Amino acid sequence: MKRFLFLVLIFQNVFSQEIPLNVQKIIKAYPGKVTGFKGNKIVFSDGSNLIYDDFKNKTKQEMLENPDIEDQFRFVYAKVNKNLIPKEDAGRIRNEAFFKKIYGNSKSEVESKMTEIIWCPKLVNQKIKVTTVNGIDIIVKKLSAELDNNPEFKKYINAIGGTFNWRKISGTNRLSMHSYGMTIDINVKNSNYWQWDCKCKNEEATLLYRNQIPLKLVSIFEKYGFIWGGNWKHYDTMHFEYRPELFL
Ligand SMILES: [Zn+2]
Repeated sequence: MKRFLFLVLIFQNVFSQEIPLNVQKIIKAYPGKVTGFKGNKIVFSDGSNLIYDDFKNKTKQEMLENPDIEDQFRFVYAKVNKNLIPKEDAGRIRNEAFFKKIYGNSKSEVESKMTEIIWCPKLVNQKIKVTTVNGIDIIVKKLSAELDNNPEFKKYINAIGGTFNWRKISGTNRLSMHSYGMTIDINVKNSNYWQWDCKCKNEEATLLYRNQIPLKLVSIFEKYGFIWGGNWKHYDTMHFEYRPELFL
């Protein structure tokens, strides 16, 4: 009998691997793109896979430069509130290979999945390009419609700074999240960016947090699954990127 129970336990271990909570979030956040989890690997709809956890201990700088998918969840993204003074960079750690699998492996592949929409037709009426992956174009249209009902937001959301741009983050070898068509920089004029303030690119620099963007505006973006760069210690208050897994 004991031996039988032992065999049952082995069987359960092999055939019903427990899926880590953060992997469950990824599967939920990218339906049709991420299909499962097998032996520490995230499985994608094309049958390919990526290692989830490399089991390496990393400094913050190493995590920025060479994170595994598990590291993306290292800091918990908390929705904005009036006492906001961000102490970490939740969401700023990204595994490039993962996002290439979701949105496209090259400029032309990402572009082939993009469509044009009208950003805030009443207040701004600007054409922008966004990805259609996981219905993000539909999500951005809804976000835009809600922002468009707030005339007081006009100076922040008009002449938006940038959407799609396949490029490296300046001063690094890492691909910008603007390369995937799911990231929006709103108006630059009313924004703050840590590198402009410290006039440096040194991650270790002492920073004094600054922000002019109304938190009500930020909350609308968050409602649609966008994290905000103003919620980072290394603040970038014009920057919003679609990262639904961090809200689940
Ligand atoms: Zn940006």
